[in-house]
Amino acid sequence: MLHEAKLKEECGVFGIYGHDLELAKLAYFGIFSLQHRGQESAGIAVSDGQDLISHKGQGLVADVFNETNMAQLSRSKDIVAVAHTRYSTAGGKGIINAQPLVARYLNGGMALAHNGNLVNAASIRRKLEQEGYFFQTDSDTECILNIVARYRHGGPEVAMQQVVERVRGAYSVAMIFDDKLIGLRDPDGIRPLCLGKLGDSWVLASESCAFTAIGAELIRDVKPGELIIIDSQGLHSKILSSKSGKGGLCIFEYIYFSRPDSTINGKSIYKTREQMGRMLAKQYPVAADIVTPVPDSGRSAAVGYAKESGIHFTEGLIKNRYVARTFITPGQEERELKVRLKLSPIPEVFRDKRVVLVDDSIVRGTTIKSLINIIKSAGAKEIHVRVSSPPYISPCYYGIDTPNEADLIAANYSTEEICQFIGADSLGYLSMEGLMEALNGKPHQFCTACFTGNYFAGRVGDDD
Ligand code: SF4
Repeated sequence: MLHEAKLKEECGVFGIYGHDLELAKLAYFGIFSLQHRGQESAGIAVSDGQDLISHKGQGLVADVFNETNMAQLSRSKDIVAVAHTRYSTAGGKGIINAQPLVARYLNGGMALAHNGNLVNAASIRRKLEQEGYFFQTDSDTECILNIVARYRHGGPEVAMQQVVERVRGAYSVAMIFDDKLIGLRDPDGIRPLCLGKLGDSWVLASESCAFTAIGAELIRDVKPGELIIIDSQGLHSKILSSKSGKGGLCIFEYIYFSRPDSTINGKSIYKTREQMGRMLAKQYPVAADIVTPVPDSGRSAAVGYAKESGIHFTEGLIKNRYVARTFITPGQEERELKVRLKLSPIPEVFRDKRVVLVDDSIVRGTTIKSLINIIKSAGAKEIHVRVSSPPYISPCYYGIDTPNEADLIAANYSTEEICQFIGADSLGYLSMEGLMEALNGKPHQFCTACFTGNYFAGRVGDDD
């Protein structure tokens, strides 16, 4: 579905420890390949263990960094770097909230890159402020930084244990802690974080596609609740908290957020999406002439639907990749123009055809409605919409920007009503059972809260 009508991704984090490497450059390439996870701001911090410097800015990675600031960040003495690309899900969009968040002190410093949302940030902040701590940002990430700063004298294990005991919600963290690279994942592992190797050097990233970009090898996913410490002694790991057993990795990483060339928990994102499409074809078969995806989000599932059903796969919508923001304001007519500017139909593909249109999710329903209008005007005879996830009924509190429940169409209308509203000839959502079969898993292994309302890690505001 079009990005602006879509759930917005959260953030991408990257970290690297190593000697005689161009750390800033590698960090740049790392977050460049994590750009899909956040486009509002980007930042890189590097350190030689004592002297920590950083550069952050608003916009895309390629806009924030240039020859001058990259030259300043490229110091041969540095041994550790972290980097971040951000979409704001807690705290404002301003430069003040750009990450990595940095704290400097005599003979050392910390730089923190965080992906996820804390659900008890307000109460932690209140307590820390009462204890005399100051906050420079309005992002929940600073709660983690302040807890670590408070307990830093005990070393990273003590400080991170405090983080795990105090904060609740979703967090995957890459952090410079003096001369060390730290990785930490929340006890349920809601947001992804993986560990890789580049020669003798260790790398952390939200997704394995960042390793591919720098020629590193994926070693494994960081385990839920696991602390990773990388320094001159090598890698040390400790499980700081055991899983609640009630939930796990965000299932939307498999459905939409992660890049198709990434692998999470040993599963290829592309192959998993293809499998979801196959399951969808089994659950909602239909007589049709072509299967076509909503670019780019429905592509892998559409391939699966076509393979399973034997219906011909074809691209029918051409995406204009240069439409970022337009001046057009909401309203159905304007919205349709916006969709038309971004996705243009090939009339020769659609004329007199019965079309299966595949996407990964329907959030508000307004974009797919416009798209159906556009495809019908291009001559399609019938349009059968197939969605490779269950109805999206509850907002996310764990790091994804979603509309309120009132604006989530599936929270308020039945599938038949939605089908009518969007103007499709039929509509089928992949069931939770079908999704689990595609993933070869069980619901308790994932966060599925946006399909079930089961907020196993709490909700923002629960204890405020
Ligand atoms: S609520 Fe949905 S989008 Fe949010 S973490 Fe859970 S599965 Fe992912």
